[in-house]
Amino acid sequence: MNYKIALIRGDGIGPEVVGEAVKVLNAVGEKFGHTFTYEDVLLGGCATDAVGKSYPDGTAEKCKACDAVLLGAVGGPKWGSDKPAEQRPETALLAIRKDLGLYANLRPAALRPAMADACPLKKETAEKGIDLMMVRELTGGIYFGKRDKYETEDRGLEATDLMAYSEKEIERIGRRAFELARLRRKKVSSVDKANVLETSRLWRSVMHRLAEEYSDVQYEDVLVDNCAMQLVRDPGQFDVVVTENMFGDILSDEASMVTGSIGLLPSASIGDTAPGLYEPIHGSAPDIAGQDKANPIATILSVAMMFRYSFQLPAEADAVEQAVDAVLADGWRTADIAEPGVTPIGTKQMGDLICAKIKG
Ligand code: NAD
Repeated sequence: MNYKIALIRGDGIGPEVVGEAVKVLNAVGEKFGHTFTYEDVLLGGCATDAVGKSYPDGTAEKCKACDAVLLGAVGGPKWGSDKPAEQRPETALLAIRKDLGLYANLRPAALRPAMADACPLKKETAEKGIDLMMVRELTGGIYFGKRDKYETEDRGLEATDLMAYSEKEIERIGRRAFELARLRRKKVSSVDKANVLETSRLWRSVMHRLAEEYSDVQYEDVLVDNCAMQLVRDPGQFDVVVTENMFGDILSDEASMVTGSIGLLPSASIGDTAPGLYEPIHGSAPDIAGQDKANPIATILSVAMMFRYSFQLPAEADAVEQAVDAVLADGWRTADIAEPGVTPIGTKQMGDLICAKIKG
C-alpha cells in the first residue's frame, strides 16, 4: 500500500524527532512492503519566520490531501505572547485541530517494561503494570464556551466561562471510547462530576445508553476527583478512560507523569473524516534543540499509533512498539531517561537502533 503523510516538523526539537520518525516509517515500509510519501507542511514559529503567520493559507487543505499528519512540536521564546495572535505557534495548533475536525484526543499512558524504575509510584503499584488510554473530548466544553468579563456594581470585575455539551458531541466521543476498548481490555471508565454539573448528568445518561449498546464492554462511572486520586493510587485498574475537555486536559497530564518521562509518550487526535494528527505530548524543548539530545521515542510511538488508528496496520504498530521496548531493554537511553552512571546516546543513534530492531 502507498500512504501519503503530511510532515509538520515545526520548531525546536520538532525537526530532529520527526527526522527519526521518518527513518522508522521507511524501515517499516521496507520490512512490510509499504511505500510512504511525504508532504512537508509549514506550521508554527518557523512558518511565522518564513511567511509572517504561524498558520499559512492552505495548510488544512494540504493536510486533508494526505492520509495522516505527523507533527513534531511547535513554539519557542522567539514567538512569545507579546506577538500578535496570527504569529503565535499555539494559534496554529488550535486552528489545525479545528479545521481537521479532530474531536478525540487519545493519550496512552503505558509504563514500558524496561522503564518501571522511572515510575514515581510505589514499587508494588508499578509492578502491577500501567497501560491505560485517556480519551479526551477536544473541541467542546468550557474551552470553547461563551466567555465574558464585566464590571459589577458591588463586586468589582466578574468573569464567566460557559461549559456546554450536546448529546451529539458526547455520543461521538463515547463511541470512540467503546470502540477502542473493544481493541484493548474491554473496559471503559467514564469520568464526570455528575453530583454537581448538569453537563455531567447529560454526559452520564448518554454514556449509560452506549454502555447498554456495547454490552460486551465493562463500564463504570468515576467522579473526576476520585479519578485523580485513583490515578496515583492504582492506575492499573484503568483501561480506557473517557472524559470531557477540561477534565481530560488535567487528568491526561497526571496519567503521563505516572509513567516516567515526557520523552516517551505519544498522542493521536482524530475525527470522523479528515486525516488523524499524531504527535508527541512534549513541546519543542528549545533548551536542547539542535544538540542531538532529544528523545525521539514519543514521536516514533506516535507513528505506531498512526499505523494502528489511521491505517489499520496493527502488526506494523506492534513491530514499532516491540522495537522500542527491545532497545530500552538492551539498556540504551537518551539523556532524559538515563539513570545515573549510564552514558546517554543521541537522538540519531536512538532512531538508528530502533530501525535496526524493526528490520531484524
Ligand atoms: P517542553 O515539553 O518543550 O519541555 C519541558 C522539558 O522537557 C524541557 O526541559 C525539555 O528539554 C524536556 N523535553 C521535552 N521533550 C523532550 C524530549 N523529546 N527529549 C528530551 N527532553 C525533552 O515544554 P515547555 O518547555 O513548557 O515548552 C517549550 C515550548 O514548546 C513552548 O513554546 C510551548 O508553548 C511549546 N509546546 C508545544 C507543544 C506542541 O507543539 N504540541 C506542546 C507543549 C509545549
